[in-house]
Amino acid sequence: MNGKPDAVVVGAGPNGLAAALRLAGAGLRVQVVEQADRPGGGLRTEELIRSGVRHDVCSTVHPMAAASPFFEEFDLPGRGVRLVHPEICYAHPLDGGRAAVSRHSLAATAAGLGADGPAYERLFGPLVEHADDVIDFFLTSRLRRLPTRSVGAVTRFGLEALPNVRRLARRYFDGEEGQALVAGAAAHGMLDLSRPLTAGLGMVLGMLAHHGGWPLVEGGSQALADAMVTALEQQGGEVVTGHLVTDLREFEGVPAVLLDTSPRAFVAMAGDRVHEGYRRWVGRYRHGPGVFKIDWILSEPVPWAHPEVRRAGTVHVAGTLAETMAGEEGPAHGRVVERPYVLAVQPTVVDPTRAPGGEHVFWAYVHVPHGCPVDMTERIEAQVERFAPGFRDTVVARATKDATEMQRWNPNHIGGDISNGEASLRQMLARPVPRWNTYRTPVRGVYLASAATPPGPAVHGMCGDNAARVALADVFGVREVPALRPAPV
Ligand SMILES: Cc1cc2nc3c(=O)[nH]c(=O)nc-3n(C[C@H](O)[C@H](O)[C@H](O)COP(=O)(O)OP(=O)(O)OC[C@H]3O[C@@H](n4cnc5c(N)ncnc54)[C@H](O)[C@@H]3O)c2cc1C
Repeated sequence: MNGKPDAVVVGAGPNGLAAALRLAGAGLRVQVVEQADRPGGGLRTEELIRSGVRHDVCSTVHPMAAASPFFEEFDLPGRGVRLVHPEICYAHPLDGGRAAVSRHSLAATAAGLGADGPAYERLFGPLVEHADDVIDFFLTSRLRRLPTRSVGAVTRFGLEALPNVRRLARRYFDGEEGQALVAGAAAHGMLDLSRPLTAGLGMVLGMLAHHGGWPLVEGGSQALADAMVTALEQQGGEVVTGHLVTDLREFEGVPAVLLDTSPRAFVAMAGDRVHEGYRRWVGRYRHGPGVFKIDWILSEPVPWAHPEVRRAGTVHVAGTLAETMAGEEGPAHGRVVERPYVLAVQPTVVDPTRAPGGEHVFWAYVHVPHGCPVDMTERIEAQVERFAPGFRDTVVARATKDATEMQRWNPNHIGGDISNGEASLRQMLARPVPRWNTYRTPVRGVYLASAATPPGPAVHGMCGDNAARVALADVFGVREVPALRPAPV
């Protein structure tokens, strides 16, 4: 880029790229600086094992992107990004060849739960009915808006979401299927499920299945990142890769700098420009358990005992509610467990383009203690084998990443924590620090824009979008934020 940009974004994850597009949409010259050799962050897809076979190294399943107001405005179909929907959004196998499954249809999902069906409709029906308003309230910055529509639905959600998942599951469901279904979704939050608010994520993710679905990006999540980069370049912006930013003085004279980084990285980059109080708050911001991940190439699809699990995009492999809770309690308290909660994704069920030779890609991760280097391969494969006898015979090749390697790969994954800070009740209310506007930092013109800000982890781009709106108002006096530039025809 000739001359200084109006704004620099550090980090080309979904939030960094969303921030860059919002700024560019307002007519600014934007440069994105990324430490990796390719943009995308949590949207990266790599030929990890063999040329031509594509693995999403992080996100694959996109209920949040499908619901995100930012991506709706970005216009995925107009940018050539195709979302593909598995017939079953997520499945939760149980011993004895049983399983609970969530489909796009609320009624069909409830029907699959037998006697617990009416309770399922009672729990999710009102949320699905007011889904747009609930999503709008939680994904758009809470700092600028209070719910004006559907106050009742949002309040009801809040009351149901506050307890832990066991209380919610047992209050609504008598059968193991219904209980496990909601616990499996809640366990995405990487928390001890006996803590408050853990019911909330299970409810949001459950609701999204019946709203926009749990789709995947055809060809791999990288296609979404690439479309965002292309859109930025079409507006004169640029992405510089292979450059780790360690000192904000590098951007002296640039009016706005937005950071798709951890709060800790910001404090280190800012040096003595950050006052002691803010530094202490960031010191208290907790990074939770890490992740151990396996990517496989399989000779055939996973032979799940229950046939419907074979048609699911996502599979929660953990057993009953009690087992799911035990699987998550250990890592949250520094213990490796023998029977972990395994979050598995089978992309080729709906997207065979990722393995053109007729093989299959499959991935799974488990939560492990913060910074834990233990190899979890055996334990993960034993859990899958438990519900899919013969699975091990289908394995052609595998690549693994432990929690320490997760952090080496992406500096935002401190200790292997892929949420950029625990999503506990306290840290969701004050993310990452207890300030009125948490996108602003103590350094003038510098903003946090990553998943360490509201609304938190997942691919929705809303942290970046919200941060960019704050920067546009503060630095450039833009209060009526223009729409994103449309895709060229
Ligand atoms: C294994 C795994 C599976 C996941 N599965 C899903 C899923 O299925 N669905 C879903 O919605 N979410 C999923 N997530 C979570 C999702 O990927 C993240 O919440 C999301 O990517 C966060 O976006 P971000 O832009 O805040 O940060 P990131 O995606 O982490 O991007 C940050 C970028 O900034 C760069 N960076 C950081 N520091 C610097 C620096 N100092 N200088 C230069 N560059 C820097 C990093 O290299 C990275 O590219 C998953 C994550 C992982 C790891």
